Amino acid sequence: MKAAVYRSKQRFEVTDIPAPEAGPGQVVIKINSSAICGTDVHAFMYDMPQPGAVLGHEFAGVIAAVGDGVTRWKVGDRVVGGGGDFPLGKEPPTRAHPRYNYRTMGFADTRTRGYAEYTVLEEWAPSPIPDAVPDDAASLTEPCAVAVHAVRRSALRLGGTVGVIGAGPIGLLVIQAARAAGASKVIVAEPAPGRAEAARALGAAAVIDPFEQNTVERMVELTGGLGPDVVFDCAGIKTTLHQAFEGVRRAGEVVLVAVPWEEMPLRPVEWMTREIDFRASWGSDPEDWRISLDLMAEGKISASAMMSDTSFISLDEIQETFEGLMKPTTQLQTVIRI
Ligand SMILES: [Zn+2]
Repeated sequence: MKAAVYRSKQRFEVTDIPAPEAGPGQVVIKINSSAICGTDVHAFMYDMPQPGAVLGHEFAGVIAAVGDGVTRWKVGDRVVGGGGDFPLGKEPPTRAHPRYNYRTMGFADTRTRGYAEYTVLEEWAPSPIPDAVPDDAASLTEPCAVAVHAVRRSALRLGGTVGVIGAGPIGLLVIQAARAAGASKVIVAEPAPGRAEAARALGAAAVIDPFEQNTVERMVELTGGLGPDVVFDCAGIKTTLHQAFEGVRRAGEVVLVAVPWEEMPLRPVEWMTREIDFRASWGSDPEDWRISLDLMAEGKISASAMMSDTSFISLDEIQETFEGLMKPTTQLQTVIRI
């Protein structure tokens, strides 16, 4: 089968590798749509994956084969590659290990995953796709679950105001999840015009251009001089966490959703005097996947609105696409059609 194999620093090779087979209790999934995740782009950029790894964890497809003893699925069932309940003792280290460390426990998975024609999973791992959700949209269930997880971890309440810094794929999903959770007003900071437009289309009350305007001052102005109740940092670049702390209202909450790999300067005295709460959000839990698929089926979260004609690529275009995504980009979501 065709797969994009990670070979060395910032190098994929699209090549033929043996197709995986379903062992007992496992299923083979024929992948139709595989979304490119920012985490994979970072891993590519910083040369984190093991040589030989096939990355990609945001995919939708159909069950192509079932191993002995599989009762939950039959060939042809539509699934996304995650969201199943972990059996006892199989929880990932991000959830089960009290001292999880991404350097020693992250990106070590050399399993053949989503940037390939087929992948194999334990039968408990996938989730069924509701009929109302097409494959391209369903491939965004994982990032959607990340957004849902962040909003569910936050202190947002019905009628609350929200700031979202960064309207990349995760930011656009956080806007929608916050609205679905009852936010009265979502204010977004995003410089790229295409992303700003998508943010407006998906329910942002206002979009601040951080290169033209002062993000903190505008967030405060647009919330009657208070600042939003909750600010989500979905950009995670040098200045944004500081802006989130500066912009949020007194006794409000900052939620870090983006994954910054660099040091970020903070001046605590400027926000500790306003008793700001801070919360980190990492990944998602199975229930966040179920909630995401339901919200997509009900039309409360639109993944299709995050895609345009230029969003779709073939597996052969993966190398140049990743190289492009390493630089600041105006692209919305990129999906590999396999
Ligand atoms: Zn992801």
